[in-house]
Amino acid sequence: MLIFEFKVKAKSIQYSAIDEAIRTAQFIRNKCLRFWIDNEKVSKYDLNKYSAVLASEFSFADKLNSMARQSSAERAWSAISRFYDNCKKNRAGLKGYPKFQKNNRSVEYKTTGWKLAENRKAITMTDKNGIGKLKLCGARDLNFYQLEQIKRVRLVRRADGYYAQFAISVERTEVSTATGNTLGLDVGLESFCTDSNGHKIQNPRFYRLGEIKMKRAQKLVSRKIKRSSNRNKARVKLGKVHLKISRQRKDFAIKLARCVIQSSDLIAYEDLRIKNLVKNHCLAKSINDAGWYQFRLWLEYFGKVFGRITIAVNPAYTSAECSDCGMIVKKSLSTRTHVCQCGCVLDRDENAAVNILTRAIGRTGHVGTLGLDSINASGETTTTLVDENLLEQVVS
Ligand SMILES: [Zn+2]
Repeated sequence: MLIFEFKVKAKSIQYSAIDEAIRTAQFIRNKCLRFWIDNEKVSKYDLNKYSAVLASEFSFADKLNSMARQSSAERAWSAISRFYDNCKKNRAGLKGYPKFQKNNRSVEYKTTGWKLAENRKAITMTDKNGIGKLKLCGARDLNFYQLEQIKRVRLVRRADGYYAQFAISVERTEVSTATGNTLGLDVGLESFCTDSNGHKIQNPRFYRLGEIKMKRAQKLVSRKIKRSSNRNKARVKLGKVHLKISRQRKDFAIKLARCVIQSSDLIAYEDLRIKNLVKNHCLAKSINDAGWYQFRLWLEYFGKVFGRITIAVNPAYTSAECSDCGMIVKKSLSTRTHVCQCGCVLDRDENAAVNILTRAIGRTGHVGTLGLDSINASGETTTTLVDENLLEQVVS
């Protein structure tokens, strides 16, 4: 799947109509969730049927295209099935019981309810919501693709306006030749990451700048009186700062991930769970973590595109262990160099990166003879993110 995104230009009355459709999508999703809670043995199919029942009960739900209603029901289902999965896997801690959504920002259509203009520079929503014709602004060209390849159309509201996303079904693979290299990556706070050859990738400048801007915008919001129009203005501004940083972060992640994937046949990194990451309250750390998580998603995505192996390993003791002799050398966070009795002296992060790589290779056996498929067959990779899932997270 490729996702193309365009900024949408329309009249304010049309924007209100989009808001209305987004609200309806949330309403249907939440109603479906309620239906699942209140009834036993509800399946995905039942929710789909229920979305039609809602349309007959609520006139505003009837205004939304039937397939868009189904997509909203499917959103409820994906939250439910995620919960089921977590229960089945017996993962420790909270299982993520589905929640009612309060801040939905998009509505998704499938193959009906919209029509592209002849030149494909505009889209007309054909359901009864009154959204009408939206001008599409952006550098992408939809003319390269067959209409049948457009599987989904999503209208998204962001801090700086409205967007239309097109999910186009294209299998993306690129030719790449084996490099003979393997690479381990360690995430740091001082630098973005360090690889097993000792190269460091510095944090991009916008991390620090973004942190300053975010703090300033946040302060502005908290100074204003609650529910005042000035506070609202400050909140909009904060939203824009967030948006800008997340775009820069995405850009950085894509470029770096592509470059790293092309450099090696196997790339190993820490299996840091986002759940543990976002718990952190230090702003600099949280910006770093979000950046790292996004980088990992793209790494796994490009791994597929270029046919490279990506492996996430358990990070426990990777910084304490000696990469030469395996002894545990405890060090505090401020100790930047790994010094072992065996004579091994390495940069702290480089030592960790080597350990990460060693663990990954230990799990796959001899790397040179293994292809991506054989690893998948043995079920050993942890790169479980499917394309669509990835894009969903990365784009929104
Ligand atoms: Zn040692």
